[in-house]
Amino acid sequence: MRRTFASLLATAALGLAIVAPAQAQEAAPAAAATAPAQVDRPGPQLVLAVSIDQLSSDLFAQYREHFTDGFARLLGGAVFPSGYQSHAATETCPGHSTILTGVRPARNGIIANNWFDPRIARADKKIYCSEDLSDPASTSREPVVSANLLKVPTLGEMMKRANPATRNVAVSAKDRAVVMMGGHQIDAGYWWKGSGFTTFKGRELSPAAQRANAAAAALLAKGAPALKVPVWCGARDRAVAIGNGSVGTFRFALPKGAKPDMLRVSPRMDGATVDLALGLVDQLKLGQGAVPDVLSVSLSASDYIGHAVGTEGVEMCIQLAELDRNLGRLFTALDARKIDYMVVLTADHGGHDAPERLRQQALPGAARADKALMPAALGVEITRRTGIAAPQGPLIYGDGPFGDMYVNAAITGEAKAKVVRELVNLTRYHPQVAAVYTAADLAATPMPTGNPQDWTIRERARASFMAERSGDVVVLLDRAITPIPEPMPGAYVATHGSVWDYDRRVPILFWRKGMAGFEQPNPIETVDIAPTLAAQLGLKVSDGVFDGRCLDLDAGAGNSCERVK
Ligand SMILES: [Zn+2]
Repeated sequence: MRRTFASLLATAALGLAIVAPAQAQEAAPAAAATAPAQVDRPGPQLVLAVSIDQLSSDLFAQYREHFTDGFARLLGGAVFPSGYQSHAATETCPGHSTILTGVRPARNGIIANNWFDPRIARADKKIYCSEDLSDPASTSREPVVSANLLKVPTLGEMMKRANPATRNVAVSAKDRAVVMMGGHQIDAGYWWKGSGFTTFKGRELSPAAQRANAAAAALLAKGAPALKVPVWCGARDRAVAIGNGSVGTFRFALPKGAKPDMLRVSPRMDGATVDLALGLVDQLKLGQGAVPDVLSVSLSASDYIGHAVGTEGVEMCIQLAELDRNLGRLFTALDARKIDYMVVLTADHGGHDAPERLRQQALPGAARADKALMPAALGVEITRRTGIAAPQGPLIYGDGPFGDMYVNAAITGEAKAKVVRELVNLTRYHPQVAAVYTAADLAATPMPTGNPQDWTIRERARASFMAERSGDVVVLLDRAITPIPEPMPGAYVATHGSVWDYDRRVPILFWRKGMAGFEQPNPIETVDIAPTLAAQLGLKVSDGVFDGRCLDLDAGAGNSCERVK
């Protein structure tokens, strides 16, 4: 039967205007069988918050048609392909800090993985985002892990405040992911260090973590064969020369007696993290008590692989197939335990491929950052131009050829103003630099609102700015400039951290058994996740706590944001 679009519209209008009540009556029982009304349904017993480190919306778009396991299940839920880590400093620590706090770095304090305070006593003046500055044993390189620098609570902490019986558990290969998703009050938190999982200073390794470590040690001793290459990896399986090596064809064979880093930088790291998460579910009976629990699982392998060999080779293709399988394993195991869980999956930031492969593949402007932009080099040039030198330490502190840069604390008053002016002049007109702002510029910029896709670069930088922690100057690189001047193939060739959407845009997927799915392509933010989950849990949170908004996950006329009583 063929009908014109106009006649279809007319029918639809009639249906809505005249016969809607009868239709609703007929439709209700069928709809209820597959999709219980979100508003009336009790909240889940377990919030499973999954963060896939470096899973850009670009990778998600590239691979989603091939997912058959864990991801395929999530694709049946509420799918937001354009989630935004809306801030400028798109790194792991800030990214993880937004997911369960609902607060952007400008207010939660996690402005970068590392920042500097030129006034502090330690020689490198560097502060790591998840260290305990009050512990004299802590250094930026060997931090005593803590959430002290995070200025706001996480969802798990808010739930514990509402009911202390809630357990708040987090696992990852990275300490900063555990700390930023779990927060200050973590009942169990484990991350990988050296050759196994470890936990907070003064705590014992739980039996689940001991078992995970024994399994990892056995795997390293025995070795493992290359991983299967999915047929759809196709032309990505091709060597690309970078520096003195090449990337693009590695299959993750684990030689007998391999170093632990070969396990860490492989899909098997996610497998080990999922195994530990499930071990903790059993040990702590998560999602099986009278009150809901939170389990944060941050899977880091995609990021390690992206850094080591880039995002467009066979390695990332294998990784995404293995990730799909590992997620499937996690969900199936929770199903088998009859746990009513709600999943949110997102990423701490996106990523971009190595410039050598980008140049081969239709992006001729891709390049590595100029070494002249390194803070030490900038400091030397400023001294040459102004005659101003630091009595001790470098003139300019910074974590690489972009981001927050700080003037040595011995330089004050008019001399400091002169150094800042010279730093701005040196960087602003560099052909690889998109924008440069002083702390005063950003302090005077209103906090952005509205669609994060449309924010100006200055607004993106504002969402990463906190006066007491940010640099005297913030340098932001152009699109497709990789801030790794000297690549190390197999270790460090590609990265993220920019203001561009390949680094800011990440998928956000919600799923719960029985939920009616939908896809909403319009941009949302990762700070919307916490308010959305709070509403699902019926957790009342005061106005102004979150930077984000509650997302209505009811695909129909109901509104899951209105369940908070
Ligand atoms: Zn990374």
